[in-house]
Amino acid sequence: TKTTTKGGGEQNLTVALRIRPLNEDENYNGAKSIAHKVQAKMVVLMDPMEDHDDVLRANRSREKQFVFDCTFDSNALQDEVYKNTTRSLLPNIINGYNATVFAYGATGAGKTYTMLGTDDEPGIMARGLNDLFVEMDRTKEEMKYKVSMSYLEIYNEMIRDLLNPSSGILDLREDAKGGVQVAGLSEVTTRSTNEVMDMLFQGNKERTQEPTAANKTSSRSHAVLQVIVKQQNRVRNTVQEVRVGKLFMVDLAGSERAASTHNRGKRMVEGAHINRSLLALGNCINALSDKNGHKYINYRDSKLTRLLKDALGGNCKTVMIAHISPASSQFEESRNTLVYADRAK
Ligand code: ADP
Ligand code: MG
Repeated sequence: TKTTTKGGGEQNLTVALRIRPLNEDENYNGAKSIAHKVQAKMVVLMDPMEDHDDVLRANRSREKQFVFDCTFDSNALQDEVYKNTTRSLLPNIINGYNATVFAYGATGAGKTYTMLGTDDEPGIMARGLNDLFVEMDRTKEEMKYKVSMSYLEIYNEMIRDLLNPSSGILDLREDAKGGVQVAGLSEVTTRSTNEVMDMLFQGNKERTQEPTAANKTSSRSHAVLQVIVKQQNRVRNTVQEVRVGKLFMVDLAGSERAASTHNRGKRMVEGAHINRSLLALGNCINALSDKNGHKYINYRDSKLTRLLKDALGGNCKTVMIAHISPASSQFEESRNTLVYADRAK
């Protein structure tokens, strides 16, 4: 039995795992659940194909264990996932630090449910913004705030504004101070959580979704919600210091490999791009997790990592929430995701 343990203590990188419930189709088809949370931090995945006698003879286990900072089983509620992954980032953002939350996993594993959610069960994006608004309201006598939000997608290494799709393909620019900006990206300023939800649902409809052999609506794009909070002290106004904190909440493209979707031509190219961004991201996160800080972090390999350059590493907090389906039919994808998330630490 392989056990992978993570380091503890004060850390800037948190890796969580969420297992979604079996869906109606899977239940209808009598799917077996092969992924289980067995302890607060541990998940086991059972190989449904391995021959039991072979396994016994080789003295191997059909089960592999994976340990994360935090695991959520199929009963976990949206609020529990939010509170254990994202809520603690908010004070940092208000104080001028940057942070990123990623949802990783194959198409259908539950990424969009975690990040966007539904009207009745809102996800991390709306909950995070709501708490941010509440906190700003609480301290408004003393502090002056400006919040702006942008929602974009990266599809085939091209950036599009999900709130204003007619603006076409946008450029990523770096200013003299090394700051990264998307030229022409629209910004929304609102303090209403309902307006935010409307905006996100609307934006999500604009995401590039193309049917593939494996999935009817496989998400081929990364959706990035960028929240910028500017804060200034009203009272101590002798020094006109403005603190700027950025929070990125990213619903990544499906991680399934191009090879497994029987794609040819255009779809194949898409797959390669998606894997390039996910690989670049994996490499960055892997370098960040190096406790000695010896590993070189190469942000230049993809649009996604370039965009997130000043929100990964340094004093920034990073949260990766990996998602899997518990269904035996998804074994390969679940294993790939567990291994990817495991490597991230
Ligand atoms: P992804 O974005 O990774 O492709 P989705 O978030 O769209 O996957 O999830 C696929 C389906 O499963 C959706 O119908 C979604 O509502 C449902 N689902 C995902 N996670 C959960 C969950 N934790 N609880 C209930 N339903 C879920
Ligand atoms: Mg999705």
